[in-house]
Amino acid sequence: MSDVLIVGGGAAGLMAACSASQAGANVTLFEHNEKLGKKIYITGKGRCNLTNDCSCDEFMREVARNPRFLFSALSVFSPQDLMRFMEDNGLPLVTERGRRVYPASYKASDVTRTLENVMRARHVRILLNQGVKQVLTENGHVTGIETVDGDIYRGDRVILATGGLAYPSTGSTGDGYRMAQSLGHTLVRPVPSLTALETQETWPQQLQGLSLKNVSVVCLKGKKTLYEGMGEMLFTHFGVSGPIILEMSCHLPDDVQGVPFSLNLKPALTQEQLTLRLQREFDEQPRKHLATVMETLLPSRFAALFPQIAGVDGQKTCAGLTRQEREQIRSTLQCVPLTIRGRRPFAEAIVTRGGISVKEVYPATMESRLVSGLYLCGELLDLDAHTGGYNLTIAFSTGYLAGQSAAQQNP
Ligand SMILES: Cc1cc2nc3c(=O)[nH]c(=O)nc-3n(C[C@H](O)[C@H](O)[C@H](O)COP(=O)(O)OP(=O)(O)OC[C@H]3O[C@@H](n4cnc5c(N)ncnc54)[C@H](O)[C@@H]3O)c2cc1C
Repeated sequence: MSDVLIVGGGAAGLMAACSASQAGANVTLFEHNEKLGKKIYITGKGRCNLTNDCSCDEFMREVARNPRFLFSALSVFSPQDLMRFMEDNGLPLVTERGRRVYPASYKASDVTRTLENVMRARHVRILLNQGVKQVLTENGHVTGIETVDGDIYRGDRVILATGGLAYPSTGSTGDGYRMAQSLGHTLVRPVPSLTALETQETWPQQLQGLSLKNVSVVCLKGKKTLYEGMGEMLFTHFGVSGPIILEMSCHLPDDVQGVPFSLNLKPALTQEQLTLRLQREFDEQPRKHLATVMETLLPSRFAALFPQIAGVDGQKTCAGLTRQEREQIRSTLQCVPLTIRGRRPFAEAIVTRGGISVKEVYPATMESRLVSGLYLCGELLDLDAHTGGYNLTIAFSTGYLAGQSAAQQNP
């Protein structure tokens, strides 16, 4: 029976412990927090969108980095396998819009509890408040780990499931990067992803707290469309946030400073339709100020600010607007220009882009190509995906495969 040591009690580590113990290994799990699954607890606003009930091909289309690396993991443990695993172990699920899957209780803590129950039934040794400092090796093979307190645990398999850098308050502080790097692994620069964006323009700050539904956002690089999406967004004290902005952040280059993007506030109307609509509003209320009339098209806080953004005097009456000014209003409504100053920090990011290079990991087993007996899984790796349950599934599927492989492979 092999001794498997797992570092990290998040989605990937917990699932690795379940599968390794199921495959008959002697499993010890180390978690430096006082409890397991701290990040799972806050996923999906506490409801935990644990997976997406889609096919593997559809899944891979939602993965921003290295989708093909995931082929084996998803074949061994697909979203449907994950759903079956949860339901067979006593967690009923519900599927919502966009095939997003949640626990029927809508309690993220139930997901962790289910995994904990499985681990306890299979006699996994869980060591809380136990930070791991380094992985021990001899002649290119894993021999154990050393904890922060200096204790040594022997084992010929170590699974690193320490997560990335997003939301470090949940315990993902980048320790795994340092441990893997010290064994020769390469770190692809980690960048906050699925994150809000700071803008160079300061006017969004004046609209802090205002959310807009059914707007579209476009980000171009030369003639290439980096991202185009429609949905909900939010103005904040630093710039912009909300679902379509987070989604856009996945598609941007690592260095976002100075990258322009635009908002279409009336994406359902063609240029001609919007021109006619404005014409009608202006004709019907010729004596009213522009800022007042804009309230028929935009929420009042935005309407008051909009003339300034469009470069037109909001105190002008509609009758006094020149043809050029009318066109300026129309074009700005459909293309509000903004420029990115930066991403919000890791402390607020949903996921890490970058991580340990997948080129140095066998996709069929999750074992390191550099150190035998070392396995890497979850957000620690250079893998990230869009919202919709994909990131947790990456952690669960790669964790499952790492656990199974570690338990089964001969020393
Ligand atoms: C606010 C928020 C909401 C999210 N919502 C969703 C969602 O609804 N759906 C979805 O699919 N994804 C969601 N995600 C992303 C998803 O939670 C992560 O991608 C996933 O949890 C990563 O799992 P992991 O096990 O790889 O890493 P983590 O969950 O980060 O787990 C790593 C664990 O390792 C431990 N650890 C680290 N270093 C050491 C060490 N040296 N010794 C011992 N232990 C250590 C950490 O304490 C932690 O418990 C969300 C993320 C955030 C931040």
